[in-house]
Amino acid sequence: MPASLDKTPLSATEAPATLSNQPIPILDLKRQYASLQSELEATVLDVMASGGYVLGPRVERFEQAVADYLGARHAIGVANGSDALFLALKALGIGPGDEVITTCMSYIATSEAIVRTGATPVFVDIEADTFNIDLSKLELAITSNTKALLPVHLFGQALDMDSLMALAQHHNLKVVEDCAQAIGATWNGKAVGTFGDAGCFSFFPTKNLGAAGDGGLITTNCPELNQTLRMIRVHGAKDRYDHVRDGINSRLDAIQAAILQVKLPYIDNYNQGRLAAAQRYAAGLADVPDVSCPTTKDGASHVFHQYTLRVPADKRDSLRDYLANQQIASMIYYPIPLHRQGTHKKFGYEAGSMPVAEQVAKEVLSLPMFPELTEDETSRVVQAIRAFFNR
Ligand SMILES: *Cc1c(COP(=O)(O)O)cnc(C)c1O
Repeated sequence: MPASLDKTPLSATEAPATLSNQPIPILDLKRQYASLQSELEATVLDVMASGGYVLGPRVERFEQAVADYLGARHAIGVANGSDALFLALKALGIGPGDEVITTCMSYIATSEAIVRTGATPVFVDIEADTFNIDLSKLELAITSNTKALLPVHLFGQALDMDSLMALAQHHNLKVVEDCAQAIGATWNGKAVGTFGDAGCFSFFPTKNLGAAGDGGLITTNCPELNQTLRMIRVHGAKDRYDHVRDGINSRLDAIQAAILQVKLPYIDNYNQGRLAAAQRYAAGLADVPDVSCPTTKDGASHVFHQYTLRVPADKRDSLRDYLANQQIASMIYYPIPLHRQGTHKKFGYEAGSMPVAEQVAKEVLSLPMFPELTEDETSRVVQAIRAFFNR
């Protein structure tokens, strides 16, 4: 274990006894900050003193470190994960008249990126037990206008990328992976974000690797795509003030890169802490008949960005209230599937068109999940859920 993790103030063994009465938040960013405080403050002051605040050597150093960590040839820092998706699609030439196939269960940024290029999102239903896109239904959605697939490794579980890439190759489709929730997750030992043409990451503070503000990154093994992405994140400039293609302003800040550089060496420890908490939840809830714990596919690793249960739809909201009464936070990710979002009405998906996701949306409940969750906290959550169903 890296030495500085010893500074984590609330490890399972050190947790103060009074914690038993404390609120359990869905996520507590202050614990991680406290464990790295001196390193983080020193690096922020160092950037301040350097006078270089946007892109530059600190961003380049972080790009290289992420590329090395994931096993990707190139990494391009951008302003946020939403831009990463948009820029990757744009660089692959996706635009009006094209269809891009994606899951109907994700955060809105996934499908919004497709719409932003002028292309049409085509939604596919999910598997109830993994929440990821149902690959057996994906091929049926392919038409002569399909140009790309936009798979999401939802809640941190790697999708079966061997099967997805085989489909993409067979139909000559581009692949952009949405890895915003899944940094460090692997499929058959290979990191997500290194299978497709591009992998897109978010460093929003709540993600598994979080900045102190917005940040994002794109990975690719393709040298030409790397060059294109480096241009279109700075207004399509080949050299300064020589603009050779349409672009936007989507640059990663040096302060965010420096903060992320401090945290990156700990990402496997953080993901391990999430996995340990997930295993405690699973062990404590396995025999509760009304609770379905998340399952992990053979071949996949899961970095538990969220720990999401399914419970009977008619009991979900009262369970949530019951937990809230005991100071235990929970969240519903996601209450409305993407194909039923108001902004996507124009694409014409009726209620009932994605039956699995529509049912799952009524059953999901995400529990507190972050690397520093203590054993005391996870067992309080488990006890409360057991007590609710035993009433
Ligand atoms: C967070 C997230 C994004 C967007 O990332 P931002 O950095 O917030 O723009 C995209 N897709 C998924 C699945 C996400 O969870």
